Amino acid sequence: MRKKLTEDEKYMREAIRLAKMAEKNGDVPIGCVIVYEGKVIGRGYNRRNKDKSTLAHAEILAMKKAGKIIGDWRLEGCRMYVTLEPCQMCAGAIVQARIPEVVIGCMNPKAGCAGSVINLLEMKEFNHQVTVQRGVCEEECSSMLSSFFAALREKKKN
Ligand SMILES: [Zn+2]
Repeated sequence: MRKKLTEDEKYMREAIRLAKMAEKNGDVPIGCVIVYEGKVIGRGYNRRNKDKSTLAHAEILAMKKAGKIIGDWRLEGCRMYVTLEPCQMCAGAIVQARIPEVVIGCMNPKAGCAGSVINLLEMKEFNHQVTVQRGVCEEECSSMLSSFFAALREKKKN
């Protein structure tokens, strides 16, 4: 019998689906969804190369969309799902937006700012702390990245 997906897995799967759109553009596959009252109100995937913009990370794009729907820069009451641990820019924006909860697929030991390099989301010194959950669909999120980079290395060789 097929295992029933948890709510977290369901939304993380949606983020993974978005990450694959990034991959089609030759961008590192990272996807993000923002959920509010049981509905997805923001979706984003990495478009850094596609848009030629440092700012075009999955989380930032999803937050822009969610803000439009909610009609506020504050994303209180929202939960973010992201396939890879956020960078310093996105972690900063998450704190700025007062997002109460972030669910992370896999960690990013060399650049992640939700516990790897630094933990900007849970610093008591800031005016807002985020509840962080790590390791949802971890294997799928991390193998998606490793196969992307393996294919990239293969391409460079030829
Ligand atoms: Zn980022």
